[in-house]
Amino acid sequence: MNEERLASELNRLYREVEQRVRPLLAIHSARLQCRRGCRQCCVDDLTVFQVEAENIRRHHSDLLRDAAPHPEGACAFLDQAGACRIYEHRPYVCRTQGLPLRWIEQFPDGTTVEMRDICPLNEEGPPLEGLPETECWAIGPFEGELARLQARVDGGAPHRVSLRSLFRRGA
Ligand code: SF4
Repeated sequence: MNEERLASELNRLYREVEQRVRPLLAIHSARLQCRRGCRQCCVDDLTVFQVEAENIRRHHSDLLRDAAPHPEGACAFLDQAGACRIYEHRPYVCRTQGLPLRWIEQFPDGTTVEMRDICPLNEEGPPLEGLPETECWAIGPFEGELARLQARVDGGAPHRVSLRSLFRRGA
């Protein structure tokens, strides 16, 4: 797959995520404490598929060449004021931060259980276990789409790239 096609597929995926996230942000607006400057979800150990790393490299080559990463302890892309320096091109994992999450955990005996979680700052509000499935962000489908996109590039087991490693300069 050529670079242009890949970029367009990734953009399509991001747009779809945004379309699905928007109504959830409206539904949960009363409980969401997410705002510029909050670093709760912008942790230091985030990794992304190579296709997302390339997207950041493509759009932010100057930043990655000339700027220093945020000191260790928080995401390398945070600026001094706690804002994201690549917000428009932030990876998938950053686009659902703060929402109630649900996913299916599978145990070795084959049984499954639905898990739910939310940022502790957004805990206050209707209990997560009582929310309809449609009011939670499902972890799994978009991760699968990203993995399939990556597989179309390298065909094999995709390796992940740490966000911090994208910077040429050390902290
Ligand atoms: S890339 Fe941006 S939004 Fe994502 S964790 Fe880093 S600073 Fe936060």
